[in-house]
Amino acid sequence: MRRSSPLPPEHLEWVQGWGRAVGAPGYVYRPADARGVADVLELARSHRVPLVLRGRGRSYGDAALLPEAMMLSLDRMNKILAWDPSSGVMDVEPGVTIEEIWRTALPDGWWPPVVTGTATPSAGGILAMNAHGKNNWHRGTVGEHCEEIDLLLPSGESRTLTPERDSGLFHAVISGFGQLGIITRARFRMMRVHSGFLDVQALAVSNLGEMLRLLDEAKDRWEYVVGWIDAFAGGRHLGRGLVHVARHLDEGEDPAPGRHFDPSVQRGPGRIAGVVPMSMIPPLLKPLTNRPGLRMINLVKYSLGRLTAGERHFQQSLVEFSFLLDAIPGWERIYEPGGLIQHQSFVPVRHAERVLGRQLELCQRAGMPSFLAVLKRHRPDPFLLTHGLDGFSLALDFPVTRTNRARLWRLVRELAEPVVAAGGRFYPAKDAALPGELFRAAFTGGELDRFTALKRTYDPEHLLRSSLADRLLGSFWE
Ligand SMILES: Cc1cc2nc3c(=O)[nH]c(=O)nc-3n(C[C@H](O)[C@H](O)[C@H](O)COP(=O)(O)OP(=O)(O)OC[C@H]3O[C@@H](n4cnc5c(N)ncnc54)[C@H](O)[C@@H]3O)c2cc1C
Repeated sequence: MRRSSPLPPEHLEWVQGWGRAVGAPGYVYRPADARGVADVLELARSHRVPLVLRGRGRSYGDAALLPEAMMLSLDRMNKILAWDPSSGVMDVEPGVTIEEIWRTALPDGWWPPVVTGTATPSAGGILAMNAHGKNNWHRGTVGEHCEEIDLLLPSGESRTLTPERDSGLFHAVISGFGQLGIITRARFRMMRVHSGFLDVQALAVSNLGEMLRLLDEAKDRWEYVVGWIDAFAGGRHLGRGLVHVARHLDEGEDPAPGRHFDPSVQRGPGRIAGVVPMSMIPPLLKPLTNRPGLRMINLVKYSLGRLTAGERHFQQSLVEFSFLLDAIPGWERIYEPGGLIQHQSFVPVRHAERVLGRQLELCQRAGMPSFLAVLKRHRPDPFLLTHGLDGFSLALDFPVTRTNRARLWRLVRELAEPVVAAGGRFYPAKDAALPGELFRAAFTGGELDRFTALKRTYDPEHLLRSSLADRLLGSFWE
């Protein structure tokens, strides 16, 4: 695509992925209404410049980046358009965040059925990535709770899509990481809850096999199931960690549901052990962002967790349980200047122990154990480029430094190879380093052909692009 004239320099910004390990310059436009969005699309078309879509920029890597392209940032399209507390149905603009959604729904006794580990992503961003929560086994992905979207196609035509009437396009836009059109409105159905609190239990496990078995057993009895692994532990302790399970309270279990629906009661923990303010954590952790420091943090977390884990149940607010990391403002910045990347693989049940164990060992052997390793249980879903399957995912976070960058990118390849061999998948929202051929090899049922055919139909000039799509889809995409 060749430009017809230069773009205005006042729009040029340096934009980063959330992990701050990758960034790119782009001409950023932030329209506040549908007319403005259509104007930006038209401008990109007339300048023959590719357009990259951005929600709230919470993807770890290069999903919402493209060097020297135009960037359509949807963060000012942030109105809740309609809310019906009798049916739990909400219409939102694409830039509305999960936090804005729950704050509207919860006072009426509703909660979003699928939330991510942070409340800051946008509706458009989570649909484009087909996001999952800690209850993926029970509720599927966010797209399964979306009843309708308005999609602005690269041609400038706007369409309203429903999963029943427009199955092919609907199920490809959701999971299609912003490559087929711009979601300008979404309709979600919320989930009824009878309390703003959850019944939670924490359990300690001493190796990976135990962890996987526990998650698997717990998945049918508990709404939320998540495991944390001390990725520094090796040998017979490989995969040791903590499992947290939680369920919504039943009707009548909370004597004061109305009070607990109040967003002001939903705050996360303000202080650690009632003493250290959460805002102090990043400066306290910063000196520990090296291998010995991170080993110590993981050991302390495991040891303390083991002491308090067990039969005891406790209650946590929905916000505290769901968005724990949001309570530590700016924690990702402790890894500056190099930033951090994450790699999240999805592996079918019968290969999970072998492949995920191998991943933990590969990280240790490379001298780069993950500083934060999280396991979840998943199920398949109907979206075209989904990461969902009947299995487990392991999300591994790594700090990036000047000296480990090239080794880390090589390690991601090594981590991904056994996943592909086992029939697994990857989550693009977390990715910055996966070689495209491995991403493509994970789709064996013609999904990429179908996706490319839709791209040719709806975006023949290849107006919508991103660094992630260029990297993962590669020449397949041309
Ligand atoms: C701390 C943390 C925890 C997380 N936990 C989870 C988790 O538990 N589960 C999970 O699934 N994900 C999780 N994520 C990932 C996050 O949910 C996704 O990256 C999500 O896409 C971010 O939304 P966003 O609005 O920031 O989108 P961006 O990162 O800005 O964009 C993501 C993609 O969506 C496209 N896009 C954005 N808006 C639109 C639109 N209106 N129309 C079409 N395409 C669009 C972009 O082009 C891009 O490809 C987590 C992220 C962080 C930082």
